[in-house]
Amino acid sequence: MDISSRQTPSYTPEHKSLTRETVASLPKAVLHDHLDGGLRPRTVIDLATECGYDALPVSEPEALGRWFVDAADSGSLEKYLETFAHTCAVMQTRSALHRVAREAVEDLADDGVVYAELRFAPEQHQERGLELVDVVDAVVEGIIEGEKTAALAGHTIRARVILCAMRHSDRSQEIADLLVAYRSEATRDHRGYVVGFDIAGAEDGFPPSCCAAAFATLRRELVPFTIHAGEAAGIDSLEGAVREGTWRIGHGARLYEDFTADLETGIEPGRVSTFVRDRQIILELAPSSNLQTGVVDDLVDHPLPLLQQLGFACTVNTDNRLMSGTTMTDEMMLLVDTFGYGVGELFELTATAISGAFIPEPERREIMASLIVPGWDELAESGTGRGTASGGADEETARGSAFELSEEDLAGIDPQILAELGIAPEDLQPRD
Ligand SMILES: [Zn+2]
Repeated sequence: MDISSRQTPSYTPEHKSLTRETVASLPKAVLHDHLDGGLRPRTVIDLATECGYDALPVSEPEALGRWFVDAADSGSLEKYLETFAHTCAVMQTRSALHRVAREAVEDLADDGVVYAELRFAPEQHQERGLELVDVVDAVVEGIIEGEKTAALAGHTIRARVILCAMRHSDRSQEIADLLVAYRSEATRDHRGYVVGFDIAGAEDGFPPSCCAAAFATLRRELVPFTIHAGEAAGIDSLEGAVREGTWRIGHGARLYEDFTADLETGIEPGRVSTFVRDRQIILELAPSSNLQTGVVDDLVDHPLPLLQQLGFACTVNTDNRLMSGTTMTDEMMLLVDTFGYGVGELFELTATAISGAFIPEPERREIMASLIVPGWDELAESGTGRGTASGGADEETARGSAFELSEEDLAGIDPQILAELGIAPEDLQPRD
């Protein structure tokens, strides 16, 4: 999607002051959200009981949720990553992966997210004998069920999957091959759910070139990827990611390290960051996470507003909802409260996220027109009393579709989940 052709709803100054309720109700998009970093505390406990994992530090949901945030609050990426030993330990069966994926989609939808890319490293879920492809299947099936159960609760969401390779494990080629094979297998009904690749884990000592062969495969096979860079490691890791031909950068917060400041010329991006800006390589920034891993000491120092002002393609993300105790609404409210962000800036971040999504362009346009713009238009309208600025798709059509599922969609939804949602099976209305 060409950013310049976007139809931005027109907002007035009164929209500058945003309440949490308003931000929660706006349709949002997230590109960077780790499946193993977004479990409900209650689910961690349930799954630990199921699989006999007895190393959880606390056994009460609220206290466990606090423990994850405190433990992740260390100021070091390595320490932050230790918390994942607990979540990965309880995600070793198909049913556990299915549940975690379904709940992630439901929680994001409940927060007003209409498009999400969830990422995880299949290799971290093989402790109990699952094949890589089983891991991916279980997550994709959980996501599909999450889309349906979210729809039944009145929320439209589309969620897709990014497969990560762990930088330290030397399996990136295997994961890249898995991804290519998964996407190209014509008999696999839901292969379109797996949309891209990433490398995750400790950055220091593992520059992007550690996975050069995997990236070469993906470039040859025309599969898009993103690379975690510029979080723990600085401008060199960002240059490494760019040289591998990355489409997006996970975080990229430390791009400012090659900026120069001059009283006459102002702030000038250096060689690497100029390339990132000019090619509009999408930055997947996550303020809470960046604060926790010590990228910045204080949120007021976070480079997101500066990068956005300088024309970088910025998006805002949750990264790890459990470890940061956050949601997309929370991340946006941090920008509102810390930097005085208004609707215009938040819309820009959202539209940039859709433009950088790893799904086909027609689908990006369709999501923008039917799911994103109508919700933001509604806000523009409610403030000014004027007509819509976008001429986007009919809102009733977009919202109404949430409740109508084909018979095929309805088949196979776990009755227990329907009960949890307070929906009686006879209340379901199949689409004609
Ligand atoms: Zn991440």
